[in-house]
Amino acid sequence: MPASYDVIILGYGAAGAAAALQAAQSGAKVLVVEKSSTGGGNSYVSSANMTCPQDFDAAMEKDGAAHFTDYLEESTQYTTPRATVAAFTKGLHELEPWLKELGGELEDSNYDKMHSYYIPPMTFPNLESAQGLKLTVRHLKQTKLSPADTGGRRIWELLHHHIKDNPNITLSFSSRCKRILKDHNGCVNGVLLQNDEFIPAPAVIMACGGFENDIDLRRDLMGPREFGLLGTPHNNGDGFRLAQHVGARLWHASAEATVLGLLPPGEECGFALGVRKPGFIYVNRTGRRFVDETKIESHRGHIETGAQDPYSGKSAHDPIWMISDKENLLDPDKPPIVDFFSYQVVVNGYQWSKHSEEEIKKGWIVVADTLGDLARKLDLQELPTTVKEWNDQCQNPPQLDETLATTLDPLRRDQQTRVPLKGPFCAMKIVPLLYNTQGGPRRNEKAQILSIDGPPIEGLYGAGELGSIWGHVYQSSTNFAETIVFGRIAAKEAAALAESRRKLPLR
Ligand SMILES: Cc1cc2nc3c(=O)[nH]c(=O)nc-3n(C[C@H](O)[C@H](O)[C@H](O)COP(=O)(O)OP(=O)(O)OC[C@H]3O[C@@H](n4cnc5c(N)ncnc54)[C@H](O)[C@@H]3O)c2cc1C
Repeated sequence: MPASYDVIILGYGAAGAAAALQAAQSGAKVLVVEKSSTGGGNSYVSSANMTCPQDFDAAMEKDGAAHFTDYLEESTQYTTPRATVAAFTKGLHELEPWLKELGGELEDSNYDKMHSYYIPPMTFPNLESAQGLKLTVRHLKQTKLSPADTGGRRIWELLHHHIKDNPNITLSFSSRCKRILKDHNGCVNGVLLQNDEFIPAPAVIMACGGFENDIDLRRDLMGPREFGLLGTPHNNGDGFRLAQHVGARLWHASAEATVLGLLPPGEECGFALGVRKPGFIYVNRTGRRFVDETKIESHRGHIETGAQDPYSGKSAHDPIWMISDKENLLDPDKPPIVDFFSYQVVVNGYQWSKHSEEEIKKGWIVVADTLGDLARKLDLQELPTTVKEWNDQCQNPPQLDETLATTLDPLRRDQQTRVPLKGPFCAMKIVPLLYNTQGGPRRNEKAQILSIDGPPIEGLYGAGELGSIWGHVYQSSTNFAETIVFGRIAAKEAAALAESRRKLPLR
């Protein structure tokens, strides 16, 4: 590696890639340090859907997208300062023309309806600031330059295409950063790699992802529940610890985004449940239904099912089982899992078998001819009663008290999704699977990382899901856009700082 860089970027997911390209476009000499052998991170296996106002140009012209900013700010419950949210909105508006310059094009996303999760275009439609606001979800179109089937891979490969031969960007794979170093004035002056090599630079951008695969951090911050991963196993909390070590202020530490799905025994990465037909229910450890299965918002799997029973001190619901007609899993073309994202599908290339035959053989799906048999196999005595009640309710929907309405009430499931279960039956154990964690170093609207004392740590910037600006309540499909928006903001700021330092005598 040459000895001198202006900007060092830690991590080569979408945030790191966008930062690298933008920093080079801003005239900086860039080093990307990536600990895996190929990079990509969660970004590569993501759907990379991005929530935007339906008519962004008009919104920007009229009011600087203040309405969208109001909504996002309120949906974070004001845990993120308005200036930072407004920087995101502005950056999101600039994202499409930037991608166009690179040869990419955005289009509206359009996926098959799933019954096992729910993605409203607007996650919190009843907020005051949501009234009159119309959102849509967009992703990168499949083109010659970005031919992959899946959204995240398309964007990452488009960025990589422009980076790989760029003379101002050096990519260093299988290279892990173990410390960020500061000089005696408290300004960042470089990084220490795993092999103890010191690489100096006036600016460092932390884009090294979350802590989905650090069991200790997960337990400390999110509780003792069993979680699986949907994304890369390489995100194991390095960024969180690097930030603590360098004296950064942390935020959103216990916030996450999770969907419910199958975690094969002995594996770290799972499959999001993607049941397309409505003939299924969920039961908890007592064998009873406890939730409207079709209304669990796709990013709130843990939140909606994670209650703890104060009397037993145990999880109120785990283990949770999806109980279904076998017929529901027999569709040869549509597996009961989401097959357009995740590490298992995109990187491992897992092909779900026709009729789920292989998965039944592996024991991932338990099958029984009668409910009595299934109840014995799962040790759930109440199961036959629950299914009988469910089947009765499908014919005679319960009378509901509208004053007590909540979307998760098990009685409140929409009539068109009430399909009786006939048998043979099958069951799949489901757990929350992490799309991503949000916690990490707190950043401001210039992507500067703030110190525990308040002011920014000079020379240190952050982008992506590490220290995400999104907190405990998450408007779906805003994490991916954040990678590029804050990657670019961080890069411009870092390149400008490096430029100004070049003009100063060496310290
Ligand atoms: C299956 C899936 C689907 C998703 N779908 C959507 C969606 O549709 N819309 C949306 O908004 N969000 C979605 N998300 C979330 C979103 O994709 C991620 O939050 C985002 O891609 C994170 O990007 P990043 O660049 O911050 O981190 P990553 O892409 O995870 O990159 C971090 C990189 O840092 C590297 N690294 C870690 N530690 C070190 C170290 N010490 N030194 C060097 N390198 C290091 C890692 O190896 C990794 O390559 C999805 C996530 C998943 C898993």
